[in-house]
Amino acid sequence: MNRFVQRLLFTSICQLLVLILVLILVIGGTARAANTKLQVVTDIAPVHSLVSMVVAGGAETTLLIQPAQSPHAFSLKPSQRRAMNQAQLIVLMSEAFTPSLHRYLETAKRDNAVLILSEHNGPHSHTPHENNPESDHDATPVLDQSSSSTHSAVLNENEQYDLENDLHAWLNPENAIDWLDKIATAMARIDPPNANLYKNNAAMAIQQLAALHIELQESLKPVRSREYIVYHDAYQHFAKSYALRPPIAIALSDARSPGAAKLRAIRAQAMKVSCAFSEVLHDDAIVDMITQQLPIKRGILDPIGTNQSTGESLYPNLMRTLAQQFVDCLSD
Ligand SMILES: [Zn+2]
Repeated sequence: MNRFVQRLLFTSICQLLVLILVLILVIGGTARAANTKLQVVTDIAPVHSLVSMVVAGGAETTLLIQPAQSPHAFSLKPSQRRAMNQAQLIVLMSEAFTPSLHRYLETAKRDNAVLILSEHNGPHSHTPHENNPESDHDATPVLDQSSSSTHSAVLNENEQYDLENDLHAWLNPENAIDWLDKIATAMARIDPPNANLYKNNAAMAIQQLAALHIELQESLKPVRSREYIVYHDAYQHFAKSYALRPPIAIALSDARSPGAAKLRAIRAQAMKVSCAFSEVLHDDAIVDMITQQLPIKRGILDPIGTNQSTGESLYPNLMRTLAQQFVDCLSD
């Protein structure tokens, strides 16, 4: 009798413990599911902005390279590696733009998806064009907008836009518009229940950027014929997009300093320019040197959104501010 009661008690306690354990697991699981939004990691602020437009309401975004940091001198911290490992999707500008990110992605064993935007340009990217007949080799993204442009700059014989060597492809809104679509498609694949949300977000953002593009075309029209100097070779896509003169760049596209011969050549070209731009992340000294004693207006450019707050509005704000800088500096 006594043994029977003991056994009964023991069984009840075991059942109770199992019940408590199950409850803990269920409650814990639910809490975890509520906290685990999809994670999307992006490299630079303009890409983060475009991704934020598409995933709003469906996923969380992380920005790896803060706007005040130059992407050209960037190396990964352990926390950034962790963010990449935990993300369901990583969206990057291009392989050449942030080599340290790509080296990590190649060596790390991850099962998340990677979307490299400059490898994904719209159908208009693949039309033959007059300026860069050799631009079709594999390692370099082809970023030609000729067939979609309703206008073009009047280029001299030896002039062309060097799109291949300029990594700052987001400064052409037509590229950004293509990428919004690609981001929505990638998200729909990863998160099918929210596919419509991503597609609708992208459609709205595309409309917004298309209107912005027309607005900027209008405001830049009066300054198309003006010559100008820029700090680094980051504005080929912008110039072609708005039919401006091809930029005369002091530093290379990865912001490496020029040699003495290049500096002399730029100083000679400076005679014909009406404006010279420095940049928010770089020292003015080299621009000062090139423009000294010449009647050249000065402006300052912010190609990556250093002075903008991050998020959905960064990209349009960045483009509008950039265009206004060109209008101000190139006008009389
Ligand atoms: Zn740059």
